[in-house]
Amino acid sequence: MDFDPVPGLEAFRLEVREFLKGLPPDLIDRPRSTRSTPADVKRWQQKLHVRGWAAPYWAKAHGGTGWSVQQMLVFDEECAAVGTPSQDGFMHKLLGPLLNEFASPEQKAQHLPPALCGERLWCQGFSEPGSGSDLASLRTRAELDGDHYVVNGQKIWTSYAHESDWIFLLVRTDANVKKQEGISFLLVDMKTPGITVRPIRSIDDFHHLNETFFDNVRVPVGNRVGEEGQGWAITKFLLNNEHASTAELPALKRYLRVIHRLADTQRVDGQRLRERPEFALKLARLEAELMAIDMLVQRVAGLEMEHHPDALPLGSMLKIRGTELQQKLTDFHVEALGDLGAVAYPHPEQGTEVQLPGQDTARGLANDMFFRRASTIYGGTSEVQRGIIAKLLFQL
Ligand SMILES: Cc1cc2nc3c(=O)[nH]c(=O)nc-3n(C[C@H](O)[C@H](O)[C@H](O)COP(=O)(O)OP(=O)(O)OC[C@H]3O[C@@H](n4cnc5c(N)ncnc54)[C@H](O)[C@@H]3O)c2cc1C
Repeated sequence: MDFDPVPGLEAFRLEVREFLKGLPPDLIDRPRSTRSTPADVKRWQQKLHVRGWAAPYWAKAHGGTGWSVQQMLVFDEECAAVGTPSQDGFMHKLLGPLLNEFASPEQKAQHLPPALCGERLWCQGFSEPGSGSDLASLRTRAELDGDHYVVNGQKIWTSYAHESDWIFLLVRTDANVKKQEGISFLLVDMKTPGITVRPIRSIDDFHHLNETFFDNVRVPVGNRVGEEGQGWAITKFLLNNEHASTAELPALKRYLRVIHRLADTQRVDGQRLRERPEFALKLARLEAELMAIDMLVQRVAGLEMEHHPDALPLGSMLKIRGTELQQKLTDFHVEALGDLGAVAYPHPEQGTEVQLPGQDTARGLANDMFFRRASTIYGGTSEVQRGIIAKLLFQL
């Protein structure tokens, strides 16, 4: 990876800034760790679509912008700096690239245009009770009945299932072969009869997680991506695409900016936090960690684009270090808030507009700290990532 300044990158940054300046005020200043509200995600997607930037991470041949890794990172950074809503990451980072690679022309025509113009949101139905890290052991079954599969079973931790239009689902279509070979990949309309979504309220006091039940849900065979039994191979492609984004670099940079703000505004015994040596030292260490992760993100993203095998172990390292830093930075927010850190001031999107002293300073920070407990679990736990590194680099 070449870390020299890329010609034209600053001009591109200015172009992105110019576009962001034109956004309506109610579409900015929306930073939070989880996906934005469906209305916000859709409006933001529509704006990007009109600008010709609907798929910033896809190749031009697939209707994307065809941006370089550096351009994607600049785009993410600038969007995070003004606090735009998030895109539908399940579609743009995971499912979209998979459909571009494996879907039939009919499936692409059915699903890509609505996602690009912001009409359809997706969720991911992989994990089940008892099948998280050991995903290949999943038990939700799909049995052929004419030209439909009949799906029965349960998914869990289905983020945003309650506000998504479609779900991509791993199901068992054959119980009599090696477990990885009996899995298929289905696209399912969430309005299909027999789907029940029950909320799981998480420690950050948001509702983004769910249990999703499938009770004789009829799914057309034409909604299967790839061949029957090919679901696992397809999914490996999807999971391998996830690495560079798992560190959530723009969020890390946003967290660091918050700390700098607190360093200037919060005081202990009349002294600004920034002037206290132990605070300044900790801040400097975290900032150095962030710079290292920034470089690793660029390296992994470059390797991913070249489909280089080192992207896998380095991606796992990035997942571990990036998510650990998310936790350290959000812990530090709460520590820097002092007494205000003892109160979990809700995000405005949680509906309750509290009127408490310090809410302008502290709003959302404790919630983010709680939410980030989960970041070393979702997308593959840190323990599992360490196993991958050991296997790939040390042939264990
Ligand atoms: C906030 C959040 C959002 C999520 N969103 C989604 C979603 O949208 N869609 C979806 O399908 N899933 C989602 N998940 C599920 C997530 O992918 C799983 O939680 C994760 O893969 C871990 O699986 P598990 O919870 O079953 O834990 P388990 O796999 O049971 O793990 C329990 C413990 O055992 C350890 N462990 C397991 N196997 C090994 C091993 N081989 N070596 C060493 N240690 C091991 C783990 O590290 C962990 O500490 C989400 C989870 C969270 C927390």
